[in-house]
Amino acid sequence: MYSVSYAMPLVLASLLVAVLAAYTALDLAARISSARSVQARAWWLGGGALCMGVGIWSMHFVGMLAASLPVPVAYAPGLTLLSLLIAVAASGFALYMVSSAELPAWRLGVGALGMGGGVAAMHYTGMAAMRMAPFIQYDPWLVLLSIVIAIGASGAALWMAFKLRLRESRSVWLRIGAACVMGAAICGMHYTGMAAAGFPQGSLCGALPGGWSGQGLAPLVIVAAVAVLTAAIVLSMLDMRFDSHTDSLLSSLSRAHGEIAFLALHDSLTKLPNRLLLDRRLEVAIRHARRTDQCFAVLFLDLDGFKAVNDAFGHQTGDRLLGLIGHRLGDAMRPRDTAARVGGDEFIVVAAARRRDEAAALAARLGALMREVFEVDGHLLRISASIGIAMYPDDASTASDLMSRADAAMYRAKSGGRDAQTFFDPSMLVNAQEDLQLLAELREALERREFVLHYQPKFDLRRGVAVGAEALLRWNSPTRGLLTPERFLALAEHAGLIVPIGEWVLDEACRQAAAWHATGHDEWSVAVNLSALQFDHPGLVDAVGDALRRHELPPSSLVLEITESTAMRNVESSMAILERIDAMGVGISIDDFGTGYSSLLYLKRLPARELKIDRGFIRDIPGDADDTAIVSAIVALAQRLQLRVVAEGVETPAQHEHLVRLQCDCVQGFLFGAATAAADFARVVEQARQRLARPVHPCAA
Ligand code: C2E
Ligand code: CA
Ligand code: CA
Repeated sequence: MYSVSYAMPLVLASLLVAVLAAYTALDLAARISSARSVQARAWWLGGGALCMGVGIWSMHFVGMLAASLPVPVAYAPGLTLLSLLIAVAASGFALYMVSSAELPAWRLGVGALGMGGGVAAMHYTGMAAMRMAPFIQYDPWLVLLSIVIAIGASGAALWMAFKLRLRESRSVWLRIGAACVMGAAICGMHYTGMAAAGFPQGSLCGALPGGWSGQGLAPLVIVAAVAVLTAAIVLSMLDMRFDSHTDSLLSSLSRAHGEIAFLALHDSLTKLPNRLLLDRRLEVAIRHARRTDQCFAVLFLDLDGFKAVNDAFGHQTGDRLLGLIGHRLGDAMRPRDTAARVGGDEFIVVAAARRRDEAAALAARLGALMREVFEVDGHLLRISASIGIAMYPDDASTASDLMSRADAAMYRAKSGGRDAQTFFDPSMLVNAQEDLQLLAELREALERREFVLHYQPKFDLRRGVAVGAEALLRWNSPTRGLLTPERFLALAEHAGLIVPIGEWVLDEACRQAAAWHATGHDEWSVAVNLSALQFDHPGLVDAVGDALRRHELPPSSLVLEITESTAMRNVESSMAILERIDAMGVGISIDDFGTGYSSLLYLKRLPARELKIDRGFIRDIPGDADDTAIVSAIVALAQRLQLRVVAEGVETPAQHEHLVRLQCDCVQGFLFGAATAAADFARVVEQARQRLARPVHPCAA
């Protein structure tokens, strides 16, 4: 046998090429698995197979050139090219195997066999390209060992490529390490294969004529291989850069998208779904209910007293309160229900409810939830909600009908005294259409002189005498009969009719008071209610002065009632108007006291003469401990501020008795007379005087 000697620099070069080829293989495997499109995958697979095949083959070829025999050798081009082809095919197969999402054992096994077999086939085909005569004598055990090494190394390489295919920055070092192991294994296979070959003495190389030969080929192959592999790696790295840039762009884009989608579908203050999302959910609920033959409820919630909070504490506090309310509502929802904010202080809840009583229970629960104290910016705030309920499919079957009917029901709850839950009923529909008609008639009412004032007496509890009357507006409609403000006032305010109507009220009340004075009742004053819109109207002070002058009424006989919330809204400008009214000598009364949020500081500075305790607090005294405590606190506060305190809505002797005990100054209510036409006023006062003459409590006498 010839002895084979190896040129060490070329052996090292072959190892370098092997490691580089392995690194390229690992890198390209990762490119294939992260490619976004089928085409990109195919390109990476094809290019990868070519680079890796060329790499492995170059290693093998350089390794062959590193070995020198005592006789000159060359390589037959056909077989040599075939060995290159085998290397490329085996590489393509291997890359294909590891680029799938999973690598079960069988796949790894088949891949290792395919690639290892391919590498061995390439090696022995390459050897055969020398066309040695006589044939190379192979040691079968070493050949077997070389094949086992090829398959084992391929299996390990595939497994590593698979594990490292998900690219992360720290995997670069892992990949380099893995490439070294793989490169060494490929070389190990090659040199084991070489060791298996024995060249009998006197062998001649049959490929010499026309074959590729010579040491000059080695540098060329090395340079070519390194260039191809480096290009592949650089390309892959550039692509990765581009990819990771694209990735981060994509992820920030999708994050932004998510935020935009959230913003577009949610209310920024409460984070609840907005109208748009509600519409979608409602459609889904309708479809689901239709399919499954079920029903559900739409609840329309409108906050009571929210405006008062806004007026008293400013918009920021109001906004924060809304946020808390949204939170409370959202938390109260079951997973399939939706609570949405649809307007300033309006919310809609869409909730699964098998029957009406389930919806009623939910509404009651939400009502109670709203009644619980909210703490905002250190203030304890109390509000309530009026809730209207419409049921699918009993009340309506389309989204817009469901909402408008729940809205109509809410309106009823609100006008029935707020903080209530009301189901829709068809008579409410008529109302909505009727409102338009009503408005048309209301516009004519002033000219047609259809308004009248009724008067409700006000009594001094200690002296048992009438001290005056509150003028309450009535509309004597030729078609509808006598209407109270509840029916038309909101509409009049909405249509801007309240200012001219209010001026008429002022004038008429002054006329009546002057008439009473003329008949000897000059201790009677008349109180006129002002709505917020009138209070803000610049002509108010002049209108008051004109009315007083026209009827020659002393200013002290006129009282203007403004609600607590109106007075506390825009405190500085309210104060300026109130001071002008006060300077005229006209009295100021704070109406509905206890329902707004007074700042004590301003209350002290207000030029008011009177506080009227809202009838809501009187209703349940003395039975209700909370209300009783509130009423006595208001009476004490009024005494402290030297304001006359009036209890409104006194209906029962027990209430009367209790107010006497609290040393309340004045009372007003059905017990002493409802509002009546001026003609009946004297009679009502006389009846009440008799009731008051009977001492109700020994101390009060
Ligand atoms: P308000 O100023 O709180 O007037 C008292 C209301 O309570 C009146 O209702 C009166 O009839 C009613 N009331 C009196 N005693 C009792 C009682 O013992 N029990 C019960 N449950 N209710 C009692 P009315 O006349 O329907 O007026 C409602 C509201 O309309 C008034 O509330 C006032 O805010 C407003 N209003 C009335 N007249 C005018 C007006 O001329 N101009 C303006 N801007 N608003 C007016
Ligand atoms: Ca009043
Ligand atoms: Ca009142």
